[in-house]
Amino acid sequence: MDLRLTKFTKRFGDVTVIDKMDLTVRSGEMMALLGPSGCGKSTTLFAICGIHKMDGGTLHFGEEEVTRLPAQQRPVGVVFQNYALYPHMTVAQNIAFPLRVQRKTRSEITDEVGRMAELVQISNLLDRRPAQLSGGQQQRVALARAMVRKPDVLLLDEPLANLDAKLRLEMRSEIRRIQRETGITAILVTHDQVEAMSMCDRIALMKDGGIVQLDTPMGMYTDPADKFVAGFLGNPP
Ligand code: ADP
Ligand code: MG
Repeated sequence: MDLRLTKFTKRFGDVTVIDKMDLTVRSGEMMALLGPSGCGKSTTLFAICGIHKMDGGTLHFGEEEVTRLPAQQRPVGVVFQNYALYPHMTVAQNIAFPLRVQRKTRSEITDEVGRMAELVQISNLLDRRPAQLSGGQQQRVALARAMVRKPDVLLLDEPLANLDAKLRLEMRSEIRRIQRETGITAILVTHDQVEAMSMCDRIALMKDGGIVQLDTPMGMYTDPADKFVAGFLGNPP
């Protein structure tokens, strides 16, 4: 399902941090929101998942306007940098949690948790608790929990930031594999240009609360709109 932000505006007090931003993410694509710290990436993601209300503009998922839809009712799955798994629950219980909230039957839950564990390849870890997992494994659980309700849109906020270099590489390709296999529309927030270039179909490069350029990784690299873009991608003129 495609996603359309039109004239999105966000203020904190008197400060306008996003000013009339337009963004379209196509159905089934993985879009990077890339940019330096503080440029407004997370703020944009929070508006899309409904954690923050928008101060202006509209948001559509496909034909449906969801601008004022409460967060719990939006068809989105979210993964944050710090996993936010429930420490007292097992892996299986963590993944099952969104389904229990939906009051699914026990056998439906067992089936779905099994299916998700297979997708993210943690079927052998279902009885462990988060503290007994590596960072990469925890991030796989977070992905499974985000996807278990079959959302239309997957939102990832710096999902690799807490991983060491080796796991980060592994999880880059794993997240991409999972996104491709499920065909889910996804947005990856990152400040790492290599991550955006290697994982995403297109990149929206942000600066000071707006999008400076939106293109494929190759298009942006070979034809940067300005010096900021060129510098940020590590290809200064
Ligand atoms: P990014 O994710 O790109 O690093 P953010 O979206 O978190 O940036 O922040 C964008 C701007 O909004 C920053 O200047 C930040 O200080 C400000 N900001 C974010 N959240 C809040 C908040 N809850 N209250 C006030 N200012 C905020
Ligand atoms: Mg952020």
